[in-house]
Amino acid sequence: MDDRAFRNAMGKFATGVTVITTEQNGEAHGMTANAFMSVSLNPKLVLISIDQRAKMLDKINESGKFAVNILAENQKEVSMQFAGQLKEKNEAEFDYMSDIPVVKDALVNIVCKVYSKQVAGDHTLFLGEVIDIVLREGAPLGFHEGKYSRIVS
Ligand code: FAD
Repeated sequence: MDDRAFRNAMGKFATGVTVITTEQNGEAHGMTANAFMSVSLNPKLVLISIDQRAKMLDKINESGKFAVNILAENQKEVSMQFAGQLKEKNEAEFDYMSDIPVVKDALVNIVCKVYSKQVAGDHTLFLGEVIDIVLREGAPLGFHEGKYSRIVS
């Protein structure tokens, strides 16, 4: 099977959009990700998948903590910024929860400590144990077939 067929098939799975954040040596770092799922209620575990080439990988390995920020429908630019899709470099302002930077005004901020990790091909899967959550009202930003979308209920 060729890579294109695999990518096209996976693109049919509609997701929300998150920004993963962490801090290393006092510097905040963010990365857009849609490979995110809820895994367990007791204990409360979530899963993210990080490309071996992403700078985020070493940063999470070092800090042992990360946040998953579920973006609201008006935060497409935030997603583009943390995916390196904007031409200009913008400053980012973060809030802090449990000493971890989180995206301001995201629909949900979920702070985790690393519970376990598993190398899976060209990505590393991190299970995070949830230690703090903030939830806001609003609709999520959607993503499928390589495009941002609105999720209408
Ligand atoms: P960089 O490429 O250096 O950083 C990412 C961008 O964020 C840069 O433009 C940087 O300037 C900006 N940035 C970071 N920190 C700050 C800060 N403190 N202040 C201001 N700007 C900052 N990749 C995965 O591995 N897993 C996924 O699940 C995944 N899902 C994706 C979903 C979508 C919808 C998109 C668009 C991309 C996805 N990616 C995913 C790709 C990933 O977002 C990019 O490859 C990203 O550039 C990798 O980030 P990095 O950690 O290597 O750091």
